[in-house]
Amino acid sequence: MFESLQDRLGSILSNLTGRGALSEKDVSAALREVRRALIEADVALEVVRGFTERVREKAVGAEVLRSVKPGQMVVKIVHDELVEMLGSEGETIDLNAPAPVVIMMAGLQGSGKTTTTGKIAKRLTEKQGKKVLMASLDTRRPAAQEQLRQLGEQTGIATLPIVEGQSPVEIAERAVQAGRLGGHDVVILDTAGRTHIDEPLMVEMADIARASNPHETLLVADSLTGQDAVNLAKSFNERIPVTGIVLTRMDGDGRGGAALSMRAVTGKPIKLIGTGEKMDALEEFHPKRIADRILG
Ligand code: GDP
Repeated sequence: MFESLQDRLGSILSNLTGRGALSEKDVSAALREVRRALIEADVALEVVRGFTERVREKAVGAEVLRSVKPGQMVVKIVHDELVEMLGSEGETIDLNAPAPVVIMMAGLQGSGKTTTTGKIAKRLTEKQGKKVLMASLDTRRPAAQEQLRQLGEQTGIATLPIVEGQSPVEIAERAVQAGRLGGHDVVILDTAGRTHIDEPLMVEMADIARASNPHETLLVADSLTGQDAVNLAKSFNERIPVTGIVLTRMDGDGRGGAALSMRAVTGKPIKLIGTGEKMDALEEFHPKRIADRILG
């Protein structure tokens, strides 16, 4: 395991205890360790730079109280700044729109999009008493539509009947119509994913968004993919109206740096995190917990 930031800073700044304000030099030494810790936690470089500068501004000149060690103080400044950058507590899916509220799920293949679609549907059904309809718009992989159908069967949530030969936009329109006619509160569109971002994928996403007018467009990203997740978020955010991010595989041993990077790069809130393969392994995002995890 990595040495915690607290331990590292403790040794660097230990001789400072009770000696007044933190100097530029003390802070620079501490920030080298902060930078290393963030990079090890998989925070994108461009985000690390801006972050450490903000911490520098707050730390230089800060009075070191007798009761705390300078290392602890810097850790607290870093922690507070992380929490602030990670966003506010309790950002959840916004259903405040006329029914059926459309939620569009976007992301790469294998990111956990279909699983997350099922998890969100189950959560909205069980915790909020919503009537949900799920639809797979993945026409390239017939298995994908079948996967969602089975998920629906397993969770008892309605799925749009599969009709061969329709385009993703046609399926999206049919789903919204079926949602309206069937009295569904929410329609979740599980769009096609690919192994990498390309122009046809972006065009397809934009077309689906235009046709279905989603109230929420959630970008699903694998938290273990680090920098790739950040690039993905950037590209999607430029092309479709992303309203929030779902980070999957937070049960893995990643340090959570992707959360900070994605939030910083897109400015969009992380709304939920996936913490396992089971259908109830979906949690709200707590910035404090992620900040702790990033710091190790
Ligand atoms: P899609 O191609 O984006 O639709 O991805 P899937 O939903 O099919 O998920 C791919 C794999 O990741 C499946 O085996 C899921 O069970 C698994 N998975 C999805 N979310 C999570 C998560 O939060 N944690 C873990 N450990 N596995 C996940």
